[in-house]
Amino acid sequence: MLMSTTPLLTADERDAILEAVRDFSDTELAPFAIERDEHKIFPRDALRKAGELGLGGISLREDVGGSGLGRSEAVQIFEALAHGDTAVAAYISIHNMAAWMIDTYGTEAQRTAWLPRLVTMGDLASYCLTEPGAGSDAAALQTRAVRDGDDYVLTGVKQFISGAGEASVYVVMARTGDAGARGISAFLVDAALPGLSFGQLERKMGWNAQPTRQVILDGVRVPASALLGAEGQGFKIAMSGLDGGRLNIAACSIGGAQWALDRTVRYVHERFGVGRAARRERGRRVRDRRHGDRPGGIPRARARRRRGARREGSGCHDAVRHGQAIRDGCRIPRRERSPATARRLRLPAGLRYREGGARPARAPDPRGHQRDHAHDRRPRGAARVRACLGPR
Ligand SMILES: Cc1cc2nc3c(=O)[nH]c(=O)nc-3n(C[C@H](O)[C@H](O)[C@H](O)COP(=O)(O)OP(=O)(O)OC[C@H]3O[C@@H](n4cnc5c(N)ncnc54)[C@H](O)[C@@H]3O)c2cc1C
Repeated sequence: MLMSTTPLLTADERDAILEAVRDFSDTELAPFAIERDEHKIFPRDALRKAGELGLGGISLREDVGGSGLGRSEAVQIFEALAHGDTAVAAYISIHNMAAWMIDTYGTEAQRTAWLPRLVTMGDLASYCLTEPGAGSDAAALQTRAVRDGDDYVLTGVKQFISGAGEASVYVVMARTGDAGARGISAFLVDAALPGLSFGQLERKMGWNAQPTRQVILDGVRVPASALLGAEGQGFKIAMSGLDGGRLNIAACSIGGAQWALDRTVRYVHERFGVGRAARRERGRRVRDRRHGDRPGGIPRARARRRRGARREGSGCHDAVRHGQAIRDGCRIPRRERSPATARRLRLPAGLRYREGGARPARAPDPRGHQRDHAHDRRPRGAARVRACLGPR
C-alpha cells in the first residue's frame, strides 16, 4: 500500500498558501453564501475554481496532481474556507477525505482512474458509511456486497450522504462477511452504474449549499477491481479517513464560529460604539455569552484541533478516537514521511511563495466583501464615532 507524502513547509510557504485560500474564500464563497443556502445552490463552478487552486487534492500525492500538504496545513485551509461558507468548505473536506482514501488504499489502476479527475473537482467524490439504522454505531451497517463471479452485487441504503447525486464516485462501505467491523469492505462505485439512485434532498436547518441525500443501491454490479483495499478492511479504511475528516470538520466549525464572532463584535462596536472601554466590555460580554461564559472558546477549540492535526499528521492515528477500530484490532497505518517536495497549491497570479511574508495586494473587491478585514484599519475610538455621526 502506498502512503501519502507529508512534506514540511516553510512559514513563508504556509503564509502564501493561506493567503491564496483566504482570497478564494473571500471572493468565491463569502459573497454568495446566503444566496446559495437560501436557494440550495451547490456551486459546481466555485468547486472547479477550488480545484484549479489545488484544493481538490490537498493531501494527495503529486503524481496524480495532488498538492501533497500535511494535516496541519489542511485544517488551516478548511478553517479559512469555512470563514467564507461553512457548508461548501465541509463538502470540500468530504471530497478530500474520499479522494485521500483512494490515494492511500487504492491500486495504481484505481488511483489513475479516479484521482486526476477528482483533484480538478470537475468530478466529485462522496463517502458512504451511514445508514438509516447505523449512524454512530457504523459497524452495524447492513448494506450487502455479494460476490458473484468476477463482480460484487451491492444492495442497501446509505443515509445523509454529502454530495449524493452530484458525485462521480461513491466510496461505499458494505458487508461482505459476518456481523461486526471485520465483515465490512469498501468499494468504489461509479455514479453511472445501473441500480444506483438517490433520495430527495434532506430538509436541513442550514448547510443547504451542499446536497445531502440517500444513496440507494439496488443490485449495483461492480467489478471485483472496484474493491478498495482487501476484503474485510473496509471499516479500518473508513475510520482512517475519518481520522483526518473529523479534524477537517472541526476546522470548518471553527471557521464558521470565527465568522459569527467577528460579525458580532463588529456589530457591537458599531451599535454601541461610545468609547473604547465600553465597546471592549460589551464585546467581551457578547463573546462570553456565546461561548458559555468560558473565556477563549474559539482559541481553545483551535488549539485542540491544532494538537489533533499535529498528532494525526505525524502518524499518531489515535489522535481522533476510533474506538471500534482499535477494539477490533484494525491497525491504522502510520503515514510515511517523504523527502519529496510538495507541488503546493497553484497560487493565482500576484501571489508568490516568497521570503518575508509581506501581504500582496488584494484582488479587486467589487462586492465589498473584504469589509470584514478592512474593519481593523478603520478609525477607532472617538474618531470612529465622529466618522459615523458625520459633520455637525
Ligand atoms: C449534514 C450531514 C451530512 C452528512 N454527510 C455524511 C456523509 O457524507 N457520509 C456519511 O457516511 N454520513 C454522513 N452524515 C451522517 C453522520 O455521520 C451521522 O449523522 C452520524 O454518524 C450520527 O449518526 P445518526 O445521525 O444516525 O445519529 P445516532 O447514531 O442515532 O446518534 C444520535 C445521538 O445519540 C448519541 N448516541 C449514539 N449512540 C450512543 C451511545 N451508545 N451512547 C450514548 N449516546 C449515543 C449520539 O452521540 C447522538 O447525539 C451526515 C450527516 C449530516 C447531518
